[in-house]
Amino acid sequence: MGRYTEAVCRQCRREGEKLYLKGDRCYSDKCALERRPYAPGVHGQGRRQKLSEYGIQLREKQKTKRIYGVQERQFRNYFEKAERQKGITGENLLILLERRLDNVVYRLGFASSRKEARQLVNHGHFTVNGKKASIPSMLVKVGDVIQVREKSKSSPKFQELKEQAAYKTVPEWLSVDVENMSGTVLAYPTRDQIDTPVKEQLIVELYSR
Ligand code: SF4
Repeated sequence: MGRYTEAVCRQCRREGEKLYLKGDRCYSDKCALERRPYAPGVHGQGRRQKLSEYGIQLREKQKTKRIYGVQERQFRNYFEKAERQKGITGENLLILLERRLDNVVYRLGFASSRKEARQLVNHGHFTVNGKKASIPSMLVKVGDVIQVREKSKSSPKFQELKEQAAYKTVPEWLSVDVENMSGTVLAYPTRDQIDTPVKEQLIVELYSR
């Protein structure tokens, strides 16, 4: 399946929940879910179907994929990797998703959404440990230093992002130097440091069927 092209906000309306896919807009009264809190499409205002246990598990997986902007095959690969790791599979899965470079750029405040972060990484605006890094799915490691490239720093886009980053809170597992537009991975996140609104155990149950 190709990349999802429907208007981004429809994904939240489909889930009936804010997925925070559009950056600052999500926190304003322009949020589509605030304005139209029902599913998209002609039957959207009808009663929501009661979901089966399988349906609930499936929705949770879809929601998580949408939040992190990951497609099915790659998501499955993360799950398989999480299963092979020590510890709780669901937590391992979320930690892997959090370690994606596009997520880290977003968490550092250098993009207003994960989608924007993915574009900025793709366009080669970041380095990791001094080397150009343009693969959004790259997994960062403890000690990695992520930085906006020198020649990108002075662009109007990054000047604007820098101003916004100064007001953002960075999770404890990262540290940020807004002035230098760089951040460091201090540790891998623990589950309580990940504020993504998902019940990862449902995804584990889905894939264990
Ligand atoms: Fe979802 Fe953000 Fe769109 Fe609201 S504005 S519907 S939270 S993507």
